[in-house]
Amino acid sequence: MAQKKQVLVLGAGAGGLIAGNYLAANGYRVTIVEKNDYHLFQPGMLWIAFRGHDPERYMRRVTELVKPGVELVKGVVTEINLAERLVKLSDGREFSYEYLVVALGAAYDYDAVSGNRELLEKYGDFFSGAEHARRLWQAFSSMKEGTLVIAAADPGYKCPPAPHKAAFLAAETLRERGLLGKVKVVLAVPFVHEYSSENIARIVAPKLREAGIEVKTMFTVESIDVEKKKLYSLEGEELGFDVATVIPVHRGPLDKVEPETAVDEDGFFKVDKHTLRIEGYDDAYAVGDCNNTPTSKTGVTAHLGGEVVAERIMGYNAVFTGRTNCPLITDGEALFVISDYEHPPVPVRFSKFKRLLEDMFIAMYWPSLRDPEKWSPLFRAYFEATQPKILAKLGW
Ligand SMILES: Cc1cc2nc3c(=O)[nH]c(=O)nc-3n(C[C@H](O)[C@H](O)[C@H](O)COP(=O)(O)OP(=O)(O)OC[C@H]3O[C@@H](n4cnc5c(N)ncnc54)[C@H](O)[C@@H]3O)c2cc1C
Repeated sequence: MAQKKQVLVLGAGAGGLIAGNYLAANGYRVTIVEKNDYHLFQPGMLWIAFRGHDPERYMRRVTELVKPGVELVKGVVTEINLAERLVKLSDGREFSYEYLVVALGAAYDYDAVSGNRELLEKYGDFFSGAEHARRLWQAFSSMKEGTLVIAAADPGYKCPPAPHKAAFLAAETLRERGLLGKVKVVLAVPFVHEYSSENIARIVAPKLREAGIEVKTMFTVESIDVEKKKLYSLEGEELGFDVATVIPVHRGPLDKVEPETAVDEDGFFKVDKHTLRIEGYDDAYAVGDCNNTPTSKTGVTAHLGGEVVAERIMGYNAVFTGRTNCPLITDGEALFVISDYEHPPVPVRFSKFKRLLEDMFIAMYWPSLRDPEKWSPLFRAYFEATQPKILAKLGW
């Protein structure tokens, strides 16, 4: 029997682990290159920053998340040459491949907005790692009065409900401590409505009011004066703060990709939105936050994309639909922002049951990364039952 092909996966995040482990389960020779020793469950940063959770709850060693037989290489990818099928690492090592899966996530550009790096250093944030989330918890939890501002420097950030979840969790902590009101929570969004989708804004706006969260719409952070404690917006307004956190501008993960035309002006890999193949290459795919698909950058899209790419390499005609399933949690309830390429987010209800599903997800997260082939039938049943075209008619 012919030996199955060799696949080089870059990044052991959600997309890379799903694709790599899925292929390894089907007999492919898989190498995964990852720069970190630990994989972080990124939604956990919200709980570290605004509920004071221990970071260890949300981290696992990458070695525990790859299947036996997968070769795990620790290193920093610096360059991809698609025409030569060559990947270079910062220490000079080079790797060739038969198939390439780029799953390097998004990078953050703290220098795109003046003052954002200084703000990060002073208060931390809930996007760039457990250490920064911990620093934000220290700043937030020491507030006895004043204003906490949660804002964004660009509308194109990952997990669209993340700042809303941050505001609800912060308000929950303050309410428990009897400080809500003395400490004001201001959520500044770069949208016309309280949420990017009007359907969801209509549902979430009353919940934000009930939770005592003040919302400032049409506020895209353009610059920050950390000394004066002021955020200035592109739209020409300013907001004062005592503690603030600003979601940074996102970019593609690599400075050097050959040919340059394989990435867009922000460095995201240009892919066919249904097959996730990098434009012009039959042997290279880009999955998750690092590609330019016109859908939200989320763990669910990375997960589903990882499966699609693995199946396409295995010879199946799998198709990526752009499906999202972002949880938006309030105090005790949740809804999922569900959409795909054909359907904008469908209006759904908040419920305690959805919050239960969301809280249970972390328990499924780790085994589903390591053994995607076992969990896939369960996830498929959920995604099929909750297709936007079904929910648009029946609601949920
Ligand atoms: C606060 C917050 C809350 C979120 N909540 C949700 C949620 O509730 N639901 C949801 O679906 N999504 C959520 N997300 C988004 C989700 O976490 C990401 O979209 C998802 O992790 C993307 O997966 P990925 O594999 O594309 O990238 P990542 O998971 O970021 O993985 C990229 C991997 O590549 C590695 N890497 C990067 N550069 C290099 C390099 N040069 N060399 C070697 N290795 C490298 C990184 O270390 C990392 O391990 C949230 C994100 C944040 C920040």
